[in-house]
Amino acid sequence: EVVEFNRFFERIIDRFEMSKSQNVDFIRLLPEQSYFVEIDTDKLTQVIDNIISNAMKYSPDGGYIRFGFTVQDTFLKVMISDDGMGIPKENLTRIFDRFYRVDRARARSMGGTGLGLAIAKEMIQAHGGQIWAESEEGHGTTIFFTLPYQEMDDEVGDWD
Ligand code: ATP
Ligand code: MG
Repeated sequence: EVVEFNRFFERIIDRFEMSKSQNVDFIRLLPEQSYFVEIDTDKLTQVIDNIISNAMKYSPDGGYIRFGFTVQDTFLKVMISDDGMGIPKENLTRIFDRFYRVDRARARSMGGTGLGLAIAKEMIQAHGGQIWAESEEGHGTTIFFTLPYQEMDDEVGDWD
């Protein structure tokens, strides 16, 4: 399905923003221009839901979650960042492994199975993109993923 990524992303962010009970602020850094992607919307929703849920889980009171995307060649590069506890460098690639959780004791109290990012990686790769994390312990984490985007004419039909 071809969708306007800006709107698709905003709707997911809106849903989290409306239902959140934590004292966390959302900051959106989204381009004004429309970009279209051909995606399985259910699967991409699941991917983004998990990344945002993780960011919320680890966000401190008064923290910020930033949402953005930029264009790189023929890809959109999407980023979701938090001000949480971060992830040690040596674990940054392993968080995409099945059942991997950084700190067992801490993870157990947070709930979850450790599958979210493994599924996200599978789905992003199936869409021709990549996913990775950057983090600074004690300061926060940013998850990036890429998706190929479609060049569209200005006059498009109804893509809803
Ligand atoms: P599930 O998603 O299945 O409910 P989960 O959230 O523990 O469980 P993943 O989403 O795969 O599993 O994340 C794997 C691990 O990576 C987490 O347990 C956590 O240790 C670490 N992690 C993921 N995102 C963040 C983040 N934003 N800040 C700090 N640690 C994170
Ligand atoms: Mg998760």
